[in-house]
Amino acid sequence: MTEPAIQKTQTGKVYLVGAGPGDPGLITLRGKYLLERAEIVVYDYLANKKLLGHAPKSAVLIYAGKKGGGLHAFTQEGINQLLVEHAKAGKTVVRLKGGDPFIFGRGAEEIQELVKYNIPFEVVPGVTSATAAATYAGIPITHRHYTASVAFITGHEDPAKKESNIQWDKLATGAGTIVVYMGIKNLPFITKKLIDNGRDPKTPVAVVRWASTPDQHSVEGTLETITDVVREADIKPPALVVIGDVVKLRNTIDWFEKRPLYGKKIVVTRTREQASELVSLLEENGANCLEYSTINIKPVDDYRVLDDALKNISSYDWILFTSLNGVAYFFNRLFEQGMDSRSLGGPKLAVVGNATADELKKYGLVADLIPEIFTGEGLAQALLEKKVSAQKILLPRAEIAQEILPQTLTENGALVTIAPVYKNVPTKGRKEELREELTSGDIDLLTFTSSSTVTNFLTMIDPASTEELHELLKNTRIAAIGPVTAKTVEENGLTVDIQPERYTIADMVNAIVAYYQDSKQ
Ligand code: SAH
Repeated sequence: MTEPAIQKTQTGKVYLVGAGPGDPGLITLRGKYLLERAEIVVYDYLANKKLLGHAPKSAVLIYAGKKGGGLHAFTQEGINQLLVEHAKAGKTVVRLKGGDPFIFGRGAEEIQELVKYNIPFEVVPGVTSATAAATYAGIPITHRHYTASVAFITGHEDPAKKESNIQWDKLATGAGTIVVYMGIKNLPFITKKLIDNGRDPKTPVAVVRWASTPDQHSVEGTLETITDVVREADIKPPALVVIGDVVKLRNTIDWFEKRPLYGKKIVVTRTREQASELVSLLEENGANCLEYSTINIKPVDDYRVLDDALKNISSYDWILFTSLNGVAYFFNRLFEQGMDSRSLGGPKLAVVGNATADELKKYGLVADLIPEIFTGEGLAQALLEKKVSAQKILLPRAEIAQEILPQTLTENGALVTIAPVYKNVPTKGRKEELREELTSGDIDLLTFTSSSTVTNFLTMIDPASTEELHELLKNTRIAAIGPVTAKTVEENGLTVDIQPERYTIADMVNAIVAYYQDSKQ
């Protein structure tokens, strides 16, 4: 099957794509498809930057700016011109806009400009923030017992303007639910207009900021009180105002903000390659994750030990895998040598835990041995029960790693070959940012998934003394995946608050959820 493509014409084409309200999962399949094929992406402030990850590495990413009231990176004319120029140069341009491009997004103005130059275009709708904000705040925007009509309005109009585009007298009582975009600054004016024109001052109102993102924050009041509520909660744009009796349903329907880790800021210190499982499980439970990669995984400079072992791979009795990276880098090299999984038919395969076993399955191989306790020591004990004396064992692993496994096996007469297949390299940078977050006391939890994440984290924040370290972490709890990691935390004078019984990412996340549910912290 050939790779599906999009039509290439001499003049390029502009795809005006709705990015959805914030959660990167809320873009349409068509939008994602086009991003994957874009040569130029021109994106707005409100489009989630994570979506840019769908674009090819070679794509040129241009920030068009636009932040309510703030600095504009480009004027609207500048953006129009940018689209025209790139399309004329034959490029496939994705113009990525927050929410739906045709709802208060000036999308039509951009298209009108393209039409002037005969430039082909397509428009892909998106989930608009009004419906997302209501839904994510637990408000159905319509309900047959409450309202049969909805109005979307902009609150951006200058109150001093003589001729308003909004007919307040008709709107106030004419629409069951009213959703106001860009309405925070003018909220006192808007609520007054609605009350003056006959809407019940006791009508419930919700204001939702950064809807559908981990930063979502919502407050509730009535037409009379909401201005004060918003001021007290210091709600700033971007936020939406939802007005109407449907807001009452929030009590029963609220789901997003009720997730167990909602509002918790959690630092994930993992390798860039591996952070995703932990982050997605934490986010699934509502956490706001800050990803700091303290380690990068790199290939080793010298693969001679592995290459020699691969030449005689069938002479080995066992191959042991103690990490996902061990599996991945072992197979990279095996493939580079022109071999494949069939070469591993001879030796038995042992892994340190379920995650590593799952990784192995990706290569079509089922582990012969998974210890009950998922540590190097646990694996060593399980192997000793299989009588490994005088057996040849290959251990592809990190350049620097715990020695307990090979040591125990060697002491019991096994012939162990340690083949370094990858190395951990600490990353630099972002120290100030992390220290600032810690100092401001915003971070609820640090997660550590290996000893090296602990030591690298400490190297990164670089405290002057133990006292300073304690001061920095005084409001922050610590989760460690297993006893080895916990020991490293404790050796550095810190306390582990959360530790799962089984050493897997999923169990660690369950333990974190249980901790916050129990302690109601
Ligand atoms: N085309 C966009 C709207 C752009 S106007 C759409 O369809 O959603 C910008 C306004 O949208 C902001 O001032 C705010 O009122 C609203 N908005 C956009 N994203 C939002 C979000 N994630 N949470 C709350 N409001 C949002």
